[in-house]
Amino acid sequence: MPTDNTFAIVGAGLAGAKAAETLRQEGFDGRLVLLGAEPERPYERPPLSKEYLRGEAEREQPFVHEARFYAEHRIDLRVGENVVRLDPARRELALGSGERLGYDRLLLATGSAPRRLSIPGGELEGVRYLRTVGDSDALRARLDAGGRLVIVGAGWIGCEVAASARQRGVEVTVIAPHSVPFERVLGAEVGAIYRDLHVDHGVEMLLGTAVTAFEGAGRVERVRTQDGRTIESDAVVVGVGATPRAMLAAAAGLAVDNGILVNERLETSVPGIFAAGDVANQLHPSLGRLRVEHWDNALQQGPAAARSMLGSNESYARVPYFFSDQYDVGMEYSGHANDWDRVVFRGDPAAREFIAFWLREGHVLAGMNVNVWDVAETIQAMVGHPVDERRLVDPDVPLEHVALGEVAS
Ligand SMILES: Cc1cc2nc3c(=O)[nH]c(=O)nc-3n(C[C@H](O)[C@H](O)[C@H](O)COP(=O)(O)OP(=O)(O)OC[C@H]3O[C@@H](n4cnc5c(N)ncnc54)[C@H](O)[C@@H]3O)c2cc1C
Repeated sequence: MPTDNTFAIVGAGLAGAKAAETLRQEGFDGRLVLLGAEPERPYERPPLSKEYLRGEAEREQPFVHEARFYAEHRIDLRVGENVVRLDPARRELALGSGERLGYDRLLLATGSAPRRLSIPGGELEGVRYLRTVGDSDALRARLDAGGRLVIVGAGWIGCEVAASARQRGVEVTVIAPHSVPFERVLGAEVGAIYRDLHVDHGVEMLLGTAVTAFEGAGRVERVRTQDGRTIESDAVVVGVGATPRAMLAAAAGLAVDNGILVNERLETSVPGIFAAGDVANQLHPSLGRLRVEHWDNALQQGPAAARSMLGSNESYARVPYFFSDQYDVGMEYSGHANDWDRVVFRGDPAAREFIAFWLREGHVLAGMNVNVWDVAETIQAMVGHPVDERRLVDPDVPLEHVALGEVAS
């Protein structure tokens, strides 16, 4: 790659930062510009609903690299710089500051943004979303003030905030239209385990109903639900999913459909422009079209996109993986299941120490280890492969042997 080339990365989150690191590691010696709209250098978001929110982590903790890393690697990191337009024909970016930046290769790592709830009172003060370190700082200050927190949505963000808030001694009500948390991803059986976990920790779970309005004089004081309840609240956190930030790409004419469409090697419909992380909707070699909104995907796709920018033909084929920590229950999920026919358990779900497997026609679609450790890689290797269900659920058969498909004795 000629050293007078400019590679630009839009989005200074985890995917963008890891892509920049990889470009230098792989020997790219040209100009490298990393542009981020937030005022902070790249940081990781998982702690923002967990230890960082609870005030148990140092301020430096969520950053991807030390501050001096960027200068040391000649990465021109521009924070607080919003890219407002992309002109693929000219290979040029228009920045909010008015500058125009030409590029030879471009990576879009613009992430996702919380889905907003547009119901009456949605704009009241005290109705919060959690995405940035600033959001987490502000929410922590609110938790310190005590009172009742209402959480709208029983997904990852909602449930992790519920756990952190309870751990800080705050009263919590979770309201969600599903019958159990994570119903769409984990199904009713496993979701019920998480519902019970929160109930055991004193969370009021109002499931099977939707929030219809927020009310209050200037700031939120009450939440109304579809089934006619009124819940007093000192603060509200809305966690109802995220939407990919694909506006820049769409306006530039790149193919966009639930994120920026990329091929197996993460290149968009315009040659020379790549996408990675939450915003990328990839044609996965074994799982089909897939957009993954998880930490590991940003961590791995950023470097993979960097290698593609340098000319590699390698497909990004990693099995999706994510983790969540709530109270003293940690889990890792590997795979991708949306049309399973069976869920089976290995271990003891009642003791919250088990592995759940989602199966279809005897094949493993996904597995989730809960308070069982050092098995995620083995589970990943099983995804997509047939298993003997009887051996799978037998804790006396080592998981590695099930994974290898040994014949039952
Ligand atoms: C509170 C919270 C907790 C989470 N916990 C977990 C967890 O436990 N486990 C897990 O697997 N995942 C978790 N996630 C998800 C994980 O953090 C995301 O998948 C990951 O951050 C995605 O990284 P990314 O780099 O693709 O995008 P992002 O982190 O969204 O970064 C994109 C960056 O691009 C910037 N940007 C966007 N548009 C522009 C533009 N036009 N110009 C300049 N900059 C722009 C944005 O400001 C942003 O800083 C959590 C997310 C949140 C919010």
